[in-house]
Amino acid sequence: MNRCPHCNQPMPINASARTGFRGVPLEMRLLASYEIDKVSGCWNWIGGRRSRRYGQIYAFGRRMSAHRASWMLNRGPIAAGLVVCHRCDNPLCVNPDHLFLGTQADNVADMDSKGRRGRVRGEAVNTAKLTAEQVLEIRALFGRLPHRMIAERFGVTKSQIDKIRSGVCWAHVTADNPESYHPKGADPVAPTPLFDEAA
Ligand SMILES: [Zn+2]
Repeated sequence: MNRCPHCNQPMPINASARTGFRGVPLEMRLLASYEIDKVSGCWNWIGGRRSRRYGQIYAFGRRMSAHRASWMLNRGPIAAGLVVCHRCDNPLCVNPDHLFLGTQADNVADMDSKGRRGRVRGEAVNTAKLTAEQVLEIRALFGRLPHRMIAERFGVTKSQIDKIRSGVCWAHVTADNPESYHPKGADPVAPTPLFDEAA
């Protein structure tokens, strides 16, 4: 049973923000897909992801970033050429009060001011449980062992294995690029895409 993140009342749906629940109104699917951080006020997306950084939802006739859908639902249309930016610097936040419309140039300037260009990934992420070598070993097991068993063998969750399989995680590690194994801090080769999608 989903509960409203604002009032904690049960909601009469078993909604997912993912595609496939198109009969459930967008507002309800959004409500079922974030949790409120009482300290920051961020509405943190817990539904499906468009990428590692952004939530995804089916809205206005197509799949789109969750924060863009939240803006359109709560604030209105997004004019051509404008992007939805985060004041809170939290890409998973869908709180319209933390969002603002800007040009792509604004977004770049905003990211630079926050030191957000270039990202830390793979083993350089503090919480990484796997090494790049293990990721290659895991890939070699796909199709030979169930994901659940691979997860147990490496001490990670099945969902982590699913993400490696789908390329959501660790996609930068490839067998023919040994330098990808040991990224040191921010990666100068492949900076974060500046924008999650075209307008
Ligand atoms: Zn926020």
